[in-house]
Amino acid sequence: MTAAVRTFPRPSARVEDVYLPGDVPPPARSRQEHTAVTTTDEAARALPATAVPCPRCGAEAGAPCTSHGGTRVRKHDVHQARTAAHAQQVAAQHDDQAAWAYIREVAHRLALEGVDVTDYWAQEDDDHHEGLIVIGDQAQAFGWHDEQGWRHLTGPRTDFGPYNNATDLDLAVDADVPDVVAAVLSALGADDPAGTERIPI
Ligand SMILES: [Zn+2]
Repeated sequence: MTAAVRTFPRPSARVEDVYLPGDVPPPARSRQEHTAVTTTDEAARALPATAVPCPRCGAEAGAPCTSHGGTRVRKHDVHQARTAAHAQQVAAQHDDQAAWAYIREVAHRLALEGVDVTDYWAQEDDDHHEGLIVIGDQAQAFGWHDEQGWRHLTGPRTDFGPYNNATDLDLAVDADVPDVVAAVLSALGADDPAGTERIPI
């Protein structure tokens, strides 16, 4: 982190002290449903993989796996396919949390620098993660995509959407937060900084 060159003043407040409209936890990826316990299958139910449905036998989330066309409950294990499905979900949730935390960190740092951040979010779309940080009255925004990196989005608004101009910030998709903040501040300074109101430090 020390390698990053900061060209802007170090914020005096902590990130946690800044409240932004986007400060809500990301939505849960899936809802777990539990069915009534009717068998002595506690051992199987205690397995983390039962949190997801089984793609092999069709057991619902929370229910144990079954064998022989559903006539026999597997009391001590679950199908391998279910264990794999659960591992995949855990990894995906981790990615969701990481993307959200990344966008949140940048948004908060920008706010500390005096940028009028009015909203931000991150989401998964089409097996990719993306995020948006909205500036001021939505005249401009900064978008992030896990394959396309960071872009400065500006108007004018047309039938095709509010941001019809996209300028690549020339950052890596996983650029360090200070680097992103510096690039955003530079972009705001280079353009008409509508919606930004720098707080004197
Ligand atoms: Zn199963």
